[in-house]
Amino acid sequence: MRTKLKNGIILATGENGDFQVLEGCSLVVNDKYIEYIGPEDDAPKADVEKDMKGRILMPGLVNSHCHGPMVLLRGIGGGLALQEWLETAIFPIEDKLIPEDVEIGERWAVMEMLASGVTCVSEMYDFPAKTWDVLKSSGIKGNVCRVGLSFSETEEIPKNRFNECISLVKDFKDENDRVISELCLHSEYLTNETFVRKIAEANSELHANINVHVSETKREHEECKARHNGLTPIGYLEKCGILNEHTYAAHCVWVTEDDIAIMAEKNVSAVFNPSSNCKLASGFAPINEMLKADVNVGIGTDGTASNDNLNMFEELHLGALLIKNIKSDATLLNAEQVIKMATVNGARALGRKDTGELKVGKRADIIAVSMDKPHMYPAFNIPNLLTYSAQGSDVVMTMVDGQILYENGEYKTIDAEKARFEMKKCIERIYA
Ligand SMILES: [Zn+2]
Repeated sequence: MRTKLKNGIILATGENGDFQVLEGCSLVVNDKYIEYIGPEDDAPKADVEKDMKGRILMPGLVNSHCHGPMVLLRGIGGGLALQEWLETAIFPIEDKLIPEDVEIGERWAVMEMLASGVTCVSEMYDFPAKTWDVLKSSGIKGNVCRVGLSFSETEEIPKNRFNECISLVKDFKDENDRVISELCLHSEYLTNETFVRKIAEANSELHANINVHVSETKREHEECKARHNGLTPIGYLEKCGILNEHTYAAHCVWVTEDDIAIMAEKNVSAVFNPSSNCKLASGFAPINEMLKADVNVGIGTDGTASNDNLNMFEELHLGALLIKNIKSDATLLNAEQVIKMATVNGARALGRKDTGELKVGKRADIIAVSMDKPHMYPAFNIPNLLTYSAQGSDVVMTMVDGQILYENGEYKTIDAEKARFEMKKCIERIYA
């Protein structure tokens, strides 16, 4: 089936990789792919036509680090420092969660993301089979893992956990590649060396992505050095053979110059989590240094317990402001670069080279941003407007692989009323 999006302002990607803002053009989607971008006169005929006047069409946002089911813990423990926050607010509630809760929470998270323009998300949480099912049935793209954990330093590899990590990658396949299973190491501090090395060894055959938290807090970074003869988390993970182009590392707040050089050499991607790092006062990730070293950087919301929403437009906005202010340099990081981090670079981090850009031949992961509200006019510079002025609530259409999943407040693949009812029941139970 062909769908034509007419009369919109299109944030297309040119041959050189730069954005081109096209007005008065049409974008035609054929099945899952973008077939045509150009003047209406030359556009192929379509089965469905949608008028996008007053809408900006841009690539869907890629939330490159998230723990979706944490919507069940939205905002709890606000104001506590990280360790206390985890021990007194988060863990006691997480201990109560059953697989059905994760399913309900993930569905609620997907609704929030679709309504604010996310077309692809990286998920790391317990009961990944439930997350997988929700992503698959909703139609959103996502990477899913079994959280890699092996708590004690001296513990043998916990065989069950290791096997679950591997079997998720082997057994969970989506013929359309909308949902991809991958490997995970929660972090250096929650895995032992044997476990990390076993995952590295297994991945030399599996070639899956590896999702890992790195140097989120100063304490984590320093304790790793004390445990491993001065090696930082990146240095240690490199020694264990886990770093390569399939690895993407969330946070990277305390990474050093040497760490950044290793990440560049090994083609490791980083994920910037501006709101979460600010809320937990974890510090400021050296994003500018990473970009200068050609490290691929995506953007993520992290879980809602430390954000407290899944609105990627806020991350674009805050991320851009932070990077400029850390260096007291307003010329750093233009809006185009920020949008790329939240789209094509995030897609690359998640091992998805066929999306993240509005370009012929790419997957049709497209969102429409309304320009109706006062804060969206005048529109002198579209990338600037999207980065500094647009809100998640301006999104009026979210399309994944050519299929519209959300349009003008309506979900096409999710029963929103039922989801709200289940969410309410679930919250009442876990906080009783
Ligand atoms: Zn995280």
